[in-house]
Amino acid sequence: MSEGLFTEDEIKEDICRVMSTLYQKGLISAIGGNVSARLPGSKEFWITPSGIFKGQLSVDDLVKVDLQGNVVEGFLKPSIETPMHRAIYNERLDVNAVVHAHNPVATGLALSGMEIKPITVEAVLTLRKVPIVPFAFPGTEDLARIVAENIAGVRALILQNHGVIGLGFNLVEAEAIVETLEEVALTQLVASHFGKPKLIPEKDMELAKRLYKI
Ligand SMILES: [Zn+2]
Repeated sequence: MSEGLFTEDEIKEDICRVMSTLYQKGLISAIGGNVSARLPGSKEFWITPSGIFKGQLSVDDLVKVDLQGNVVEGFLKPSIETPMHRAIYNERLDVNAVVHAHNPVATGLALSGMEIKPITVEAVLTLRKVPIVPFAFPGTEDLARIVAENIAGVRALILQNHGVIGLGFNLVEAEAIVETLEEVALTQLVASHFGKPKLIPEKDMELAKRLYKI
């Protein structure tokens, strides 16, 4: 866990940094994706704005929203996916950061019906089980509801025909989940292309789960 993400100003700066990283890594397009974060226990969160270039956001572009969806602070329009972020914070008190990106490989694998498999230690320990949730149109209350129904105990989700979500105690954790998901998906794609991926043996997975208490 990263130190120093405990003031609102630091959280806002880190939201901008995460968006820029996602853009540089090709996990979002110029206006795609959205990121939000809150101070632990807060009933308000900061979220990226809608419809402007995401590769170089500044803290003044961010919008503060409460858990009912009202804008509390900021000048721009909050992300179209604000209902989805709100639904997650309402459902999961342990989550303080939500990263939504359009990971091409993870999303593509899911479209072919392939689930993320225990092929690396990160897949087992960082991602754990990654549900694929059925399609609902981006930005709708329907999507928010379907996501909320599928997030009990999970750290990552794949949205069918759309993208991915990483959940974290803080931003670095949620960012790491989205990046790890793409890394694992790419490894699985390569392995599947040339043969049948070898999985980490069940007994080692059990041992790892006991060691890391998951
Ligand atoms: Zn999206």
